Formats: sequence, structure tokens, C-alpha cells
Amino acid sequence: MIPIDHPRYHSLVTRERLADAARKGVVAMEGLTAHGRGEAFDYLLGERTTMSALRAERTAAALLLSARHPVISVNGNTAAIAATEIAALQKATGALVEVNLFHRTEERIQLIEDLLTNAGADVFSGPAERLLPLSHDRAWCRREGMYAADVILIPLEDGDRCEALVKMGKTIIAIDLNPLSRTARAASLTIVDELTRAVPEITRASQELDTDDCACLISRLDNHYLLAEAICEMTTRLTACSGLKNTGQTP
Ligand code: ATP
Repeated sequence: MIPIDHPRYHSLVTRERLADAARKGVVAMEGLTAHGRGEAFDYLLGERTTMSALRAERTAAALLLSARHPVISVNGNTAAIAATEIAALQKATGALVEVNLFHRTEERIQLIEDLLTNAGADVFSGPAERLLPLSHDRAWCRREGMYAADVILIPLEDGDRCEALVKMGKTIIAIDLNPLSRTARAASLTIVDELTRAVPEITRASQELDTDDCACLISRLDNHYLLAEAICEMTTRLTACSGLKNTGQTP
């Protein structure tokens, strides 16, 4: 039992949820490593939503609301730690929710779809086809789902599929704490924030924005600027912490 007053309560609860989901087969063992990489970058951000991330989240809401056929792509890690948040985002935007996995088995797909359904999401399921130009199993998707989408939200993605989807002409919104990853660099819009903070902010913005707000946010989208701001936030924090250490103060 993790005490609620533990300074790292949220992080420890999330780890526990992921470990539990891995034991049940929802999360691949490799997914635990990917989470660890995310945590390291979150530490550098100060485990908070920055101003530039908030702007990216509002722009993501604008893109989803303005889309003809928006889709939210869900993998094991996302379902394990944010199923309820994904269901709320689907309600706010009307996007399809579709499962897409790197470590793909029919059994895992079913487990993740059940988890999402139990959390209140309406999952777009059914037979998938190998439709994306990729040699691994993330190529599998549904013709009327991700394949037909114009805007796709891809939380916790690998770079290959992000690049392939952008090459197909789709607008790709990534959530990735690592501003240096291939995903972050290739996406049309990258939200450098932790998944469980980012998704509720996109939902909140989706409930607030009108058509003019959406058009304004989309017209000002500059992903290079957003990534540069995220890197700047991390370096500023690192510099500040090393300055404190040099003067003998504790951070
Ligand atoms: P790429 O192929 O894009 O260069 P990668 O090889 O790191 O990246 P993965 O191993 O699939 O790709 O890792 C997924 C990414 O998700 C990592 O970059 C990690 O920083 C990020 N990540 C993990 N957990 C979270 C989280 N809870 N919130 C936001 N980002 C996360």
C-alpha cells in the first residue's frame, strides 16, 4: 500500500498500475521500459504541465474538433494508465478509439478493448488488415478506422509508425515526454507532457473552444517552436538545479 502523503505518490501508483497490467498481459514487458524513459524526461520537466505543453494541448483539441474523421490510437500503456481519460476525451471530441499494438496478439487486443470498454469508451473493433507501410505489427489497422482518418492522436508511439502516418498525409498529434524522439520530431504536433496530465487538458479544451478559437490555434501551430520550448524548459531547470548545488543549497 502506497501512503498518500508519499512525495512520489502519483509516480508510484502509476508504476503499480503498469506492473499490474503487465502481469495481466495488457502491457508488454517492453512497455515498462518505455514508461521509465518517459519518467526520466518528466523529472527534467519538473513533473508539471508547462505553458508550451498547455498550448499544444489546446491546439490538439482544435485539430480533433476540426477533423473530418479523428481517431485516438491506444496501446497497452495508454489503456493501463489512462483508459478513463481516453473515454472522456472520446466523448468530448467524437473521435473513434482504436487499439494498435507493436507487440500484437489477438488476446492482448481483446484485453485492451475490454479495459477501454469497461472504462466507458466506445471501441472501434472488428477485423484488422495490414494496411500501413510498416514491416512490424503496428501496420495492422482497420480500413474505416485509422486508415481512413485525417487526424490521429498517438499517445506513446514509436517513430516508425508516426513517420509512416505523416507520409500518408495524415495530421498526427503525439504525446511524448521525450522531445528528442523520432516520434516527437516527425509528428505534426507534439505534446511534451505526461499522458495522464495531457489527456484531461485536451478534453477540457475540447469542451471550451469554439470554431474561431480552433481556426486561430491551428493557424498558429509551429511544432519546431513547441519542441524548442520543451527543451528550453528542461535545460533551464537543469541549469537552475546545478546552480543551487554549486552554492551548497539543496534543490
Ligand atoms: P522513437 O521511436 O520515437 O524515437 P522510442 O523508441 O523511445 O521513440 P518507445 O520506446 O515506443 O519509442 O517509447 C515511447 C515514448 O513514450 C518514449 O519516448 C517515452 O518518453 C514516452 N512516454 C512513456 N511513458 C509516457 C507517459 N506516461 N507520458 C508521456 N510520454 C511517455
